[in-house]
Amino acid sequence: MTFSDLPPVLGDALTERGYEKLTAVQSAVVESEADGRDLIVSAQTGSGKTVAFGLAMGGQLLADGEAVPYGIQPLALVIAPTRELAMQVSRELRWLYAKAGARIATCVGGMDASKERRSLRGGAQIVVGTPGRLRDHLERGALDLSALKAVVLDEADEMLDMGFREELEAILDGAPEGRRTLLFSATMPKSIIALAKRYQTDALRIST
Ligand code: AMP
Repeated sequence: MTFSDLPPVLGDALTERGYEKLTAVQSAVVESEADGRDLIVSAQTGSGKTVAFGLAMGGQLLADGEAVPYGIQPLALVIAPTRELAMQVSRELRWLYAKAGARIATCVGGMDASKERRSLRGGAQIVVGTPGRLRDHLERGALDLSALKAVVLDEADEMLDMGFREELEAILDGAPEGRRTLLFSATMPKSIIALAKRYQTDALRIST
């Protein structure tokens, strides 16, 4: 798989970033995109996993493969275990989706919740956040998941280890049927497989 297998708007972003080829996990994910199945991916930090799920989300985010349609309600949600990781994911998705015109809201514990509500109300097609804060926004009606087409669980094993099961379940139970669920995890203990069974449909397992 090469950059020419990607929607040009994403391939160009990678080229401008100075990247020359896809990493192994990115290649495997892009290869499976034609099917658009749910994915359960073993991926370590440093493998290029963030761009990998960023590319996978393209199928749900890009209208005609070109631009992210403007809308108030988020189309994609990424859940990450820590504030630092969520902010890092936001930064990566920001350059990857800059040309495609996506607006990104970051919702993390310890930051000003009213600012986050304003940015959600203003229209964000991609929302990235930590489990507790996302659940708060959901329960207060600030986060509307009704138009959601893709959910990503980043470092899912960490999130379970940190005790976020309830928050994750509340968010996933609030996401519409028929959305795509992408699960990324460094390890695959039974608890992750159980989560995948409950919230994914016919998931394709990828390990590189
Ligand atoms: P991650 O595994 O998502 O934490 O990514 C690790 C680092 O690799 C980040 O700084 C990425 O921007 C970078 N990266 C992602 N994809 C590529 C690529 N195809 N070529 C070179 N570096 C990349």
